[in-house]
Amino acid sequence: MPISSGLNSDLIRVGIILPEDGIKELTLHWAESLDVESSASIPQNSCTLNLSADTDSFSVSQTDQVLTELIITASDQVDSLSSRSGIKVDPVIAGRGFHWEKQIPVYLPGQLTITIEKGNFKLINTLDVEAYVACVATSEMGAEAPDDLLAAQTVVARCWSLALAEAKHLDAGFDVCNDDCCQRYQGTTYLTEHSLKAALDTRGEVLTYENAVIDARYSKNCGGMAEDYDTVWEGGTVPYLTHFWDGPEPLEGLAVDDFQRLWNYMDAYCSSKRFESVDLAGMLGKVDVSGSYYRWEQVVEKQLLLANLKKYHDLSWTKITGLQVGERGASARAKYVYLQGLDTHGHAVEQKLVSEYGIRQMLSESFLYSSAFIVMNSKTLESDDHIALKGVGWGHGVGLCQMGALGMALEGINYRDILSHYYPGTTLENL
Ligand SMILES: [Zn+2]
Ligand SMILES: [Zn+2]
Repeated sequence: MPISSGLNSDLIRVGIILPEDGIKELTLHWAESLDVESSASIPQNSCTLNLSADTDSFSVSQTDQVLTELIITASDQVDSLSSRSGIKVDPVIAGRGFHWEKQIPVYLPGQLTITIEKGNFKLINTLDVEAYVACVATSEMGAEAPDDLLAAQTVVARCWSLALAEAKHLDAGFDVCNDDCCQRYQGTTYLTEHSLKAALDTRGEVLTYENAVIDARYSKNCGGMAEDYDTVWEGGTVPYLTHFWDGPEPLEGLAVDDFQRLWNYMDAYCSSKRFESVDLAGMLGKVDVSGSYYRWEQVVEKQLLLANLKKYHDLSWTKITGLQVGERGASARAKYVYLQGLDTHGHAVEQKLVSEYGIRQMLSESFLYSSAFIVMNSKTLESDDHIALKGVGWGHGVGLCQMGALGMALEGINYRDILSHYYPGTTLENL
């Protein structure tokens, strides 16, 4: 029986520059040795195009052409990819919508389709799924990552891309975006021999459940117990995205039953105890090297909460008086929380914050590490000017725990066993 997936092609379309990025000047550059095909004429011996946006067209300074679309292609054969191969595109937004948002140049293999929408550039990169997966695995991991961690991350990135379960961008004409909203993709910019090898070694390998490519969710650190799919997203339970203790010797019961017991659980594969003498940044890419996201404490200023209530809920409150977690999932992640305060008339009001995403967004300047937390100053919260939180994990905690997978790989556990630990009941198959 053929394996079914959400992506009906060997090619994937990645949104690189979106109209909302507001980019009006764009430079393309490539190595002289690169074979480039273009829908517009390129002057001989030229390896650079400078593009300037107009209302619904753009001009090419090297040729004085005015275009509504430019298609330009470089090779995307996964075997021939190398660090910084492809066409350099400058600038591209990284960290879209986050406070660390910045502009960077990226090197893209495959086909670039450049158009104009509302006076701004839009650039879609269409490329072979295997090439995309090789690039994603490096963008998500560090160059020093152990082989089995890279292999596991590569298979997961492939499943995630092929399942296309979230399909957030189909209306905009592409399958995935280039940022954390989907999977971080920066082309060949940070590609290493190592990550390319992981992609080639696991080429075509996917996890399946009932003959379909699985929806392989992953996050940075589960905090000790993996979370159930339906705690974080709607649509019911998913049999292979379920809770379990993320350690060699599972405890009894659920994490949610006893927060202090969870807090004291230091044997998990993702426990900070395992990484005390490990170069985390080298292995996982850009992470907070203190490793404090397995167990963390954070102070949230009430002023920030008032500003966020206005920003995300259009509510004008004058005071925060309380915060309680409603129901929690298995890993102790909050399903919803209640925030109490006073409105501009001095009336007592309450707002229910729903969804893991919404809770983390509201309780932080960018995103709170996770929604698995308790309030430390609940007794004095009415008079304090801040809320003190104590929490576990980083991210939604569903499916593969990237730090746990690192912990397993460092124990010498191979990627097949890592994958069956994080996605119980699934089968590793070749597409
Ligand atoms: Zn996206
Ligand atoms: Zn974990």
